[in-house]
Amino acid sequence: MYCLIAFSLNTLYSMKILLSKEAGFCFGVKRALRLTNQTLEESKCPVYTLGPLIHNPQVIEDLKSKGVLVAQSMDEIATGVVILRSHGVTPKLYQQLLDSGLTIVDAVCPNVKRVQKLVSQLKQEDYTVVVVGERNHPEVMSVPGIVEGDTIVIESIEQAENFPQTERIGMVAQTTQACEYFRKIAGILLHKTFELRVYHTICDAVERRQQDCLKIAEQVEMMLVVGGKNSANTSRLAQICSDNGYATYHIETASEIQPEWLKGIKKIGITAGASTPPWIIEGVVAALS
Ligand code: SF4
Repeated sequence: MYCLIAFSLNTLYSMKILLSKEAGFCFGVKRALRLTNQTLEESKCPVYTLGPLIHNPQVIEDLKSKGVLVAQSMDEIATGVVILRSHGVTPKLYQQLLDSGLTIVDAVCPNVKRVQKLVSQLKQEDYTVVVVGERNHPEVMSVPGIVEGDTIVIESIEQAENFPQTERIGMVAQTTQACEYFRKIAGILLHKTFELRVYHTICDAVERRQQDCLKIAEQVEMMLVVGGKNSANTSRLAQICSDNGYATYHIETASEIQPEWLKGIKKIGITAGASTPPWIIEGVVAALS
């Protein structure tokens, strides 16, 4: 469940660190980075991503220094290779990319593609489709029907409670949602329909990180959650710890650790989101030592 690292800072004070074995890169992020590095090595043309490849600013800076260009829209790309980021792109944009003649490298996580496929199936079967997630997150935007407004996003318990009575509801989750929250929404929607079909699309990697993080949090006095402030799955880890009453700080790098946080702390837990690289996690452990 965790690695135990004990440091004697001086003769009077020692700190134990519990580091989650789940902390850091998931397979989807590793795959996206492998495809990007491979493309950089092989391509003689400019290499772009549409938006950041993953939600970790330090990794994006590193990729930029190696030559990856981040475009905000297709208009910024005249020629070259476009890497589709792990969160996916909207179906309309995907079609435009295919039509553009640009070379496409598909680094969309298979788990995200699964959500897109399930939503398409539910729509074909005439379900009113609900995605539990964050409306403006690129992964949710990539789901069929979101941009057009005929797939509904639920962002809060209140929205679920106000959902109108509907004949058939099909339901999926953004891959990084908290499991308990998704279950709660499903429970509420059950009372709004005759038929509720629920696909548990929260990613395994995310679920394991959430469970392990709580196991560690209950054994320590303070949790450090490491990863991009723009990373949905990292923010969720910090939120789950805080919501359960554990003292928690969300940091991107070791430089954000404030000495006063550590006063009197003898046991500290560390976890990290699925887009946090090993060198940043190692940096946090090293800084605490
Ligand atoms: S967290 Fe899960 S869904 Fe997101 S990129 Fe990683 S494996 Fe894929």
